[in-house]
Amino acid sequence: MSPSPSGRYDLVIVGGTAPGLSVAISSLRSGLGLVRIVEESSTVAFPELATENSLDIGYGETVSSIELVEDDLVVSTDRLSYRTQAVLVAQRAEKPDWTPPLPIAKSDRILVDVLPERLADQDVLIIGYTDRAVELVAAAAAGGAGVVMAAAGLDPAKLSPAGDHMLRRLERERRATLLYRAIPDSVDVVNGFPMAYFVDRRTPDLQFDYVVFAAQRQLTSADVIGASDAAIASNRLWFVGDDKSPTSANGAEIGEKIAAACFPELALASPPTPIARRARTQGLIDELRAEHYNATITSFEPTHSDLWVLRVRPDHGDVSHLPGQYASLGLGYWEDRVDDAHDVGLDDRWPKLIRRSYSISSRIFDDHGYLANNDLYDELEFYIVLVPPTEDNVPALTPRLALKRPGDRIYLGPKVAGRYTLNSVVDPRSTVLFFATGTGEAPHNAMLLELLRKGHTGPIVSAVSVRKWADLGYINKHRELEERYPNYAYLPLPTREEGVPKTYIQALISNNVFEEMGIEMDPSSTHVFLCGNPSMIGIPEKADDGTERFPETVGVVQLLVERGFTVDRRNQPGNIHYEEYW
Ligand SMILES: Cc1cc2nc3c(=O)[nH]c(=O)nc-3n(C[C@H](O)[C@H](O)[C@H](O)COP(=O)(O)OP(=O)(O)OC[C@H]3O[C@@H](n4cnc5c(N)ncnc54)[C@H](O)[C@@H]3O)c2cc1C
Repeated sequence: MSPSPSGRYDLVIVGGTAPGLSVAISSLRSGLGLVRIVEESSTVAFPELATENSLDIGYGETVSSIELVEDDLVVSTDRLSYRTQAVLVAQRAEKPDWTPPLPIAKSDRILVDVLPERLADQDVLIIGYTDRAVELVAAAAAGGAGVVMAAAGLDPAKLSPAGDHMLRRLERERRATLLYRAIPDSVDVVNGFPMAYFVDRRTPDLQFDYVVFAAQRQLTSADVIGASDAAIASNRLWFVGDDKSPTSANGAEIGEKIAAACFPELALASPPTPIARRARTQGLIDELRAEHYNATITSFEPTHSDLWVLRVRPDHGDVSHLPGQYASLGLGYWEDRVDDAHDVGLDDRWPKLIRRSYSISSRIFDDHGYLANNDLYDELEFYIVLVPPTEDNVPALTPRLALKRPGDRIYLGPKVAGRYTLNSVVDPRSTVLFFATGTGEAPHNAMLLELLRKGHTGPIVSAVSVRKWADLGYINKHRELEERYPNYAYLPLPTREEGVPKTYIQALISNNVFEEMGIEMDPSSTHVFLCGNPSMIGIPEKADDGTERFPETVGVVQLLVERGFTVDRRNQPGNIHYEEYW
């Protein structure tokens, strides 16, 4: 391809590296006509991409200066000179002080940033997660080596688009084996050949003909390519930095920046978002799941689309717990969301786990219709509601959980915890009142089952405040319990049902509803359990002067304290027990 009649290129890219190729390809696709790559060696990072995209490349040319001449930059090499509107220096320099981050034996079979001369039929391990590592993997595979890439730390969104594309192609076409989450903790030499010992127990220790570390790269300095001060100040000369530096950019970002600064008239085809790019890397997602998840969702029953009863079976360990306690569930940020909301800071969080606490609910009946015996099950039951995004909060876990189904994998925290239990209910004749908002009835289900199984004779009431009748995932089971146990009552309180007077839990106490039911609220023989929305509970807050003040909105605790009840605290037993969900 020759320059335009004015002798001018649109963009000259110095260095056929992964980011250099990315910008060349995306610029041509967005409508730039004349893009030239100047490469000092005899090849570029991914020759097959260069051919497929008909890239114009000058091989064996070393840049000696970049000057601003009138409105153009002039790039001079040892062979030619190019007038151009913009220049991207995509050639990255070696970092002289870089050393592999793990102990390695001395051997001419363990190399840093270069490939062995002979590649055909050699088994080569390449360690690294950057564009540079992908370049080495591609070159080794092209040379006929059997390549394994140990790429712990790899984030596809931080690769250049060309690097990301090649890596997926190499994996898909089985030209390289990718260990996305593996990194050796040492490399030794055994019988003359390098042996990689892996931290991750799932990766066996492996022996290779060669081990190659992909070194970190750094910004090429302006001196090396002879850039003049005027060229640097022109806002037309761009640099790709090292793969980690926050000031640098991979090919996607820098391509957009160049286009915005130098070619605003271009309708830049928007590159896939980081999330979309990562989502296509199914192998990485599978590895993240395998690494973090330790349990399986065995059942997922929607009460309605936004409210679910689910069961989770851990791979190992038992599920013993006290009724009322909670466990933690987790899913990765890499999982899809059911809504369109954007998680704040997702780029950094993407390979991490989101964990939240969930009260352990309970089956009420077994398959034969008897009261369930939780000692017989190897799974835990949870009752969870989808939290919608608001202006102030983008919920992380429940929108991901919404897309899960039986058989899907999940994280279950190794420990159950919580003081919200029946420990203080020692008298089987005592009155036990459970008050919940929404899914706050989960621990109460477990606790009342325990009371009924133990033959509790005192009155038991479970009251639940919800918006609609449809928000009561366990109502039929509670109705069945009421039939069987005359000392048990279930009081659902929908607040947004036409024709149903709005009754909040507080009103049950203020209006003496329990007394009308024949249940005396005597603090000496009554335990009250409150779970869910903190404003229903209304725990007094400690003021700066040490005194306690109840919240402005009157909660249940205040009404109970006025009747002589006391809050159960770690160092001071009481008969008001609570679990706040936020
Ligand atoms: C000890 C404990 C036990 C819990 N048990 C349960 C349970 O059994 N079932 C359950 O659905 N949640 C339970 N939660 C809440 C749960 O931990 C998460 O906060 C909730 O699922 C939201 O997570 P998220 O990542 O989607 O949203 P986040 O970004 O964590 O959003 C938190 C916000 O969501 C709202 N929210 C949180 N929980 C609920 C809820 N249950 N109902 C309505 N709005 C809510 C609040 O506005 C809160 O500020 C419990 C919390 C604690 C501390």
